[in-house]
Amino acid sequence: ITQGLTGALDALRGQTKLTEKNIADSLGQVRQALLEADVAYDVAKSFTDRVTENAIGRKVLNSINPGQQLVGVVYEELIHLMGPVDHSLHLAGKDEVTVIMLCGLQGSGKTTTCGKLSRILMNSGRRPMMVAADLQRPAAIEQLKTLGGQLDVPVHFEDPQGNSAVNVCRNGLKAAKAAGNIDTLILDTAGRLHIDDDLMKELEQIDNRLHPKQVLFVCDAMTGQDAVNSAKAFNEALELDGVILTKLDGDARGGAALSVKHVTGVPIKYVGVGEQLDKLQEFHPDRMAERILGMGDMRSLVEEAQAKFDQEEMEAAEEKMREGKFTLDTFLSTMKQMKKLGPMGEVMKMIPGMGGAVEAMGDMNPDDDMKQIEGIIQSMTPHERSNPDVIDISRRRRIAKGSGVDPADVNKLLKDFGGMQGMMSKMAGMSIRERMRAVKE
Ligand code: GDP
Ligand code: MG
Repeated sequence: ITQGLTGALDALRGQTKLTEKNIADSLGQVRQALLEADVAYDVAKSFTDRVTENAIGRKVLNSINPGQQLVGVVYEELIHLMGPVDHSLHLAGKDEVTVIMLCGLQGSGKTTTCGKLSRILMNSGRRPMMVAADLQRPAAIEQLKTLGGQLDVPVHFEDPQGNSAVNVCRNGLKAAKAAGNIDTLILDTAGRLHIDDDLMKELEQIDNRLHPKQVLFVCDAMTGQDAVNSAKAFNEALELDGVILTKLDGDARGGAALSVKHVTGVPIKYVGVGEQLDKLQEFHPDRMAERILGMGDMRSLVEEAQAKFDQEEMEAAEEKMREGKFTLDTFLSTMKQMKKLGPMGEVMKMIPGMGGAVEAMGDMNPDDDMKQIEGIIQSMTPHERSNPDVIDISRRRRIAKGSGVDPADVNKLLKDFGGMQGMMSKMAGMSIRERMRAVKE
């Protein structure tokens, strides 16, 4: 886990002016943070160059809080470059069939995204049909048919033998028009592991014959640095209209968003945040900027949490954090709440300050060790849970025995908790700006 922006700010600690020199030092670290977030090298470099210009321009205006000022510039610039926000798929009226074409490398998530898009379209009152135009992999047609079955969306498919993708797409459009009630046609095209001419020719043919209203590039956020090359190639061949960035539920720090936007210039429309069909969300540059900078994505968490969290319990926990009373009980109930959201690591990264907390937990795997943590904490008395300081050697031994672990495990938990406690009470309830300030001070 990267230190991200914290390191960059450390360099500015105690400085009173933004000078060319200290900007350069700090932006070197910002650039490093960007590279660690998988932003392509050239993109990171031109980004920091731009920020330098902007920051120096502002130094006369405001020479107090240089770290805050610089982070402000970096943050705004990231948002600026990943925007503007345009979620629209520019659909025509329902009396005609709007064609949307998805393209991208193999495994990037095209077929899954076809299903997810269909679902979103249906929820907004449209009637989509999907076309199985990936004739390369026999399983691809079956995969799309299965999705169609789950969603109750018609799928046009044909025998791939001796057939061509452009032919399947053309027939798909005919079928959609003939059906009478279809207003959107989504083409699921083939991908390759690497960009190759045959694939590009096939896609160009479809583009030329069907004239899709939207050509969307589906890009796996985990591919990081390579995203630039594939985005460039697809954009040159097809003139993309938008990007869908997938697999942002994984470890990806989101740098691909900046890179892909930089090379294609087209808006990022949606992000995929899971394998399930409801895991497609509108793209928000501010959230992505926070993620790239390692600041945690509070709003996404709050939104997702609303559905699943026990609101009262969480509010009580937050209140305690705010009062600086983050006890082992709070720790345990917070962990339990988070667990409802899915794999712990992913969730924890989204909470401000928790990126650091995950680090403070060292090599402890939050998922695997959850049971053990729970066991240890439950072997403590209520008094011990609220006042971990009283846990001396003999108490440690008793707790270890009670929970069937080694006294060293109890030690480790207390140490990890101590690190997290400091961070949590400092960060809880703060706005992003306040958090930035807190990191600096
Ligand atoms: P295609 O080859 O481009 O059609 O890719 P698929 O749609 O078949 O997806 C490849 C794999 O990525 C499948 O296992 C999907 O479930 C998975 N996948 C697609 N989108 C996402 C996403 O947003 N998050 C996660 N975790 N997995 C995804
Ligand atoms: Mg596919």
